[in-house]
Amino acid sequence: MSGHETPSATQPAQHNRRRVLTWLVGAAAVALAAVWVAQRGLNDMDWAARRRQMVDEQIKDRGIKDERVLKAMHKVPRHEFVPEDYRSAAYQDRPLPIGLGQTISQPYIVALMTEAVTPKAGQRVLEVGAGSGYQAAVLAELGTEVYTIELLAKLAEQAQENLKRVGYKKVKVKAGDGYLGWPDAAPFDAIVVTCGAEHVPAPLFEQLKPGGKMVIPVGKTPDQVLYLITKGPNGERQERELAPVRFVPLRRAADVKDK
Ligand code: SAH
Repeated sequence: MSGHETPSATQPAQHNRRRVLTWLVGAAAVALAAVWVAQRGLNDMDWAARRRQMVDEQIKDRGIKDERVLKAMHKVPRHEFVPEDYRSAAYQDRPLPIGLGQTISQPYIVALMTEAVTPKAGQRVLEVGAGSGYQAAVLAELGTEVYTIELLAKLAEQAQENLKRVGYKKVKVKAGDGYLGWPDAAPFDAIVVTCGAEHVPAPLFEQLKPGGKMVIPVGKTPDQVLYLITKGPNGERQERELAPVRFVPLRRAADVKDK
């Protein structure tokens, strides 16, 4: 008899234990979810605060005035465009590695180049050197139609992924030699070249609309001068020096083995 009694006597206890366990697991799940949500929220706020500081101290204080540019730089989550290992440094005043020996430019330089061409909403912009996709996102944030070319197929893929994930789905990314421009999409209101060229590529100037602007680092790597090139109404070329800069070089498809 006792053999029957024992299990029946322990059943309520087991039942209780199971209920307690279920409750504990449930409570732990709720607590974990709360921590996750809080941390995510905090992180997002934290990133936004870092971006605000970046815009104020690195960009506004150095003389960038265009409100649209400042707003775009504050909006685009730069940390989403840098490799995981460099995320915490995303808002620092410097370029960062993005793989294959290439870099995402210093935030101030992105702002300077964007302000130099001041594309209006609805205008068509070409970028040469997609890299991480960050500069393209800043241009897209101004409401422009962005085309960006990247020589290294792996980086082109990465740029495309970054842009999609963050929500800049309309930016067109292509792997190829940007020296040749993007003839099918030309002419462009603005061209932003984010690698250092030895001279202004003729196809790029050709693909600029009359009245259009191109910003491009020119000179022997690593030291170049950032130029603003404008095309007059009759196709005449004017140029102005903006700043000394250091960009990775513009290479031609034939120079590259690690594509
Ligand atoms: N604008 C990028 C940073 C670009 S770094 C960003 O916001 O992250 C310069 C990039 O230009 C590199 O990724 C390099 O591979 C690319 N590049 C070099 N020569 C090129 C060419 N001929 N055509 C297109 N991209 C080129």
